[in-house]
Amino acid sequence: MRKYFITDNGTFYKANLHCHTDLSDGGFSPEDVKKMYMEKGYSVVAYTDHDILIDHRNLCDENFVALNGFEIETKEDCDKPKYEKKDNHICMIALDPDNLIQPCWHRTEYFGANAVFNKVFVKYDESLPDYVRVYSHEGITDIMTKGREKGFFVTYNHPTWSLETALDYLGYNNMHCMEICNYGAYSEGFCEYDDRAYDEMLRSGKRIYCIMADDNHTKLNTFFGGWTMIKADNLDYKSITNSLVNGNFYCSMGPEITDLYYEDGRVYVRCSDARRVIMHTGVRRHAVKRADENGPVNFVGFKVMPYDKYIRITVEGYDGLCAETNAYFLDEFYEPEEEDK
Ligand SMILES: [Zn+2]
Ligand SMILES: [Zn+2]
Repeated sequence: MRKYFITDNGTFYKANLHCHTDLSDGGFSPEDVKKMYMEKGYSVVAYTDHDILIDHRNLCDENFVALNGFEIETKEDCDKPKYEKKDNHICMIALDPDNLIQPCWHRTEYFGANAVFNKVFVKYDESLPDYVRVYSHEGITDIMTKGREKGFFVTYNHPTWSLETALDYLGYNNMHCMEICNYGAYSEGFCEYDDRAYDEMLRSGKRIYCIMADDNHTKLNTFFGGWTMIKADNLDYKSITNSLVNGNFYCSMGPEITDLYYEDGRVYVRCSDARRVIMHTGVRRHAVKRADENGPVNFVGFKVMPYDKYIRITVEGYDGLCAETNAYFLDEFYEPEEEDK
């Protein structure tokens, strides 16, 4: 029986899930960001200004969904120089447009750039004491856990820019997702396309999704380079966030994936013209289909082996740019064929 990893029905909507505006340290207004992204074919932008959850429902219309979010950062508490300190960043996107209460709020600390002036627009639970951020496995996990409990989609951002290693991020629990590519940092020269970090997370047992996002600020080179294709029944806030929570998306810097399913022991991928399509498995085995003299790869079926841990797909275009799927663990879909039992 065919099992779709990305649903067969619905429409793909192009999304930038990490973005800054002049409400914090970005260079453009929320309205300008909407206009710029819509001109490039995007239907969804998550507004994740630093430290302030702002209501952007006024930007939503029949052709555009503005997701409300914020980015929370926790600096390593040490005497190192500024540029040597680790600095954990997490994006939180409200699953419900009416959820405008910012978790982990501190009344006076942690505000930078224009967030200093715009924090007056933030709502928070006034019965709670000021939330003190702690840079440790427990401290970051606590932020992720509180965000998730309060109805947010929680993404772990740009490990390379943050100077974090596996010793750090393998200890963070309760994220939904991580950035496999933070395009803003990548375009500024950071090694921030890191599917190895995603594999490390998966191999350590975390069942998390991956996205690509721009994290655009002021420079135009940080715009429009890494996006997430969300498949949803409709272009409305809840349909989009439901698809996020359910992992009904893939991400890309170029190639398109139109079909991804499992049937009779194989994973099938249909895609735009590819130089290579790769299946990663979580063990020391890869399956690769390469373009040849007959032309590009547009459709491939990879056999799944019973000892694979999970499968995830990379589609590589002729320009070297890639699309990446989420990981799917064998115990959620695999039916061994008789010969493999
Ligand atoms: Zn950040
Ligand atoms: Zn950011």
